[in-house]
Amino acid sequence: MHKSAVFFDRDDTLIRDVPYLGDPKKVRLMPGTREALQHLRQAGFVLFIVSNQSGVGRGVISADQVSAVNAELIRKLGDAFFEAIYLCYAAPGEDDHNCRKPNPGMLYRARDEFQIDLTTSWFIGDKIADMQCARHAGCHALLVRTGQHDPAEIKEAEALAEFAADDLLEAAQYITSSRG
Ligand SMILES: [Mg+2]
Repeated sequence: MHKSAVFFDRDDTLIRDVPYLGDPKKVRLMPGTREALQHLRQAGFVLFIVSNQSGVGRGVISADQVSAVNAELIRKLGDAFFEAIYLCYAAPGEDDHNCRKPNPGMLYRARDEFQIDLTTSWFIGDKIADMQCARHAGCHALLVRTGQHDPAEIKEAEALAEFAADDLLEAAQYITSSRG
């Protein structure tokens, strides 16, 4: 039987965005993150992180630093909520093998590796590229207005989203309430 997933962008969705974050000491959870993850897990969703980390492809940070930041994120949550963490290290313009958001490759990997039904799954993120990725993969697009973007970008992202929430907990509650 196929499972439903919720895919999370990392930066400015689960943790505060710090450009090219390589220092675990700078990891700060966004408000409501733990509660939102608990809520969705209880509802039976499989949870994933899907993150572009072009700092690696650009040579600004190492893959080990990204891993250390992700480990700190999991440690701060106090629970292994995520089935897998998918990362794309490609810089813009590099061959990304369809993985760099807005490309849907990371969602296709989750679909194939964990028997996920993308049509009953959700993508939560703060950026236009997240919403485009969700649409390319054929899953529901949910915007959280927790990014640091100008009003025109937010408007464009909202137009691509099925719903826009002010924080992760509102997003999680929307998902479980709209489940048919
Ligand atoms: Mg983000």
